[in-house]
Amino acid sequence: MANRAEVAIVGAGILGLAHAYVLARKGKRVVLFERGRRASGASIRNFGMVWPIGQPSGEMHQMALRSREIWLEALRAASLSYRPTGSLHVAYQTDEADVLREFAEIGPPAGYACEWLNSTQTLNHSRAVQENSLLGAVRSHTEITVDPREVAADFVGYLRELGVECCYGSPVQKIELPRVETSLGVWEVDAAIVCAGDDFQTLYPEVFAASGLTKCKLQMMRTVPQPDGWQLGPALAAGLTLRFYKAFSICTTLPRLKARVAAEKSEYDHWGIHVLASQTADGAITLGDSHEYGLDLSVFDRSEVDDLILHEAQTFLKLPSWRIAERWHGVYALHPERPFFEAEPAPGVRIVTAPGGSGMTLSFGLAERTAGLFYA
Ligand SMILES: Cc1cc2nc3c(=O)[nH]c(=O)nc-3n(C[C@H](O)[C@H](O)[C@H](O)COP(=O)(O)OP(=O)(O)OC[C@H]3O[C@@H](n4cnc5c(N)ncnc54)[C@H](O)[C@@H]3O)c2cc1C
Repeated sequence: MANRAEVAIVGAGILGLAHAYVLARKGKRVVLFERGRRASGASIRNFGMVWPIGQPSGEMHQMALRSREIWLEALRAASLSYRPTGSLHVAYQTDEADVLREFAEIGPPAGYACEWLNSTQTLNHSRAVQENSLLGAVRSHTEITVDPREVAADFVGYLRELGVECCYGSPVQKIELPRVETSLGVWEVDAAIVCAGDDFQTLYPEVFAASGLTKCKLQMMRTVPQPDGWQLGPALAAGLTLRFYKAFSICTTLPRLKARVAAEKSEYDHWGIHVLASQTADGAITLGDSHEYGLDLSVFDRSEVDDLILHEAQTFLKLPSWRIAERWHGVYALHPERPFFEAEPAPGVRIVTAPGGSGMTLSFGLAERTAGLFYA
């Protein structure tokens, strides 16, 4: 006889975990399937930044703020560590300061909790920021950092306490409701949610083929744990990041900055590099990243890209130790025009994937949205 649950979730990346949490809290009997012995996709390879300030104003920013609220509730309930430090976007060029000053003026009425700090105020907020040529920063209060590896490994223990059946080493091969076929047996469920990340081949390949979805590869590094309990404080971003996050596209001063970067640092545009720094539970600093797009991404990393990232990081970040302990890359799915991808390939089955570079930020908000659509 088949095992029985109300909802099956495919994938134990952050989207699958968030859906399992939200639905279990609604009292649903949930079974979660992960093909690996542990999750090894984008959700363990990122900065762990829950980053509402990156989202465009309106619906996505609101979803990010709501997602952050649920994150905090879930982290506390599961006794997982996190850093509620907020963020600093630091400026060293006048065009960067212009964008950030403009954002600090028009951001708050649009719902962003942030303000402009001059250089002295910035240095009072962070011992990690380079003083030389610093013009100031935007301080935002809403960002939190989690340790993505800790979340992927330990949140599942809390889900089990909530009654979620968590099946690892269990790829889902076919869904034909009520049947869900996995390598470890058959389950019967009323509904299924597919959060399979960048796997476009295994389930519903025809839906993915017609979806317009693509992939992005990012190179990342992590330092050794910083000595003597050194703390980063607010997570850091700098001028190059203003080109990436849609939130800043409301600034009329942004095109000038983009034009200067294109003229002076074309290699940073070529590899899609901007630099962020976050700190993990063990005190190490995570640094990245680059962006290469397409369905046929190289499995090999480029040391040239790592060098550019480190060079840029050293223009604004002061670390006691720059010794790199780990290098890796991650791949996420994204849609060129939409902030995430949803589809209903069969009645009762929902695909939710491709929150792009914002999956940590949006995951719990997206999960609440899916739960609302299924169980209004
Ligand atoms: C380097 C990097 C840095 C990033 N930094 C940030 C950040 O700081 N903040 C932020 O908000 N976002 C960030 N992102 C984006 C974020 O990490 C992703 O959007 C998010 O992790 C995607 O989560 P997911 O659950 O959809 O996918 P994944 O993490 O890829 O999880 C999908 C899971 O599904 C499983 N699976 C697939 N098919 C099956 C099947 N048939 N049966 C069973 N299991 C299956 C896979 O094994 C995998 O574990 C970053 C991404 C990368 C790569």
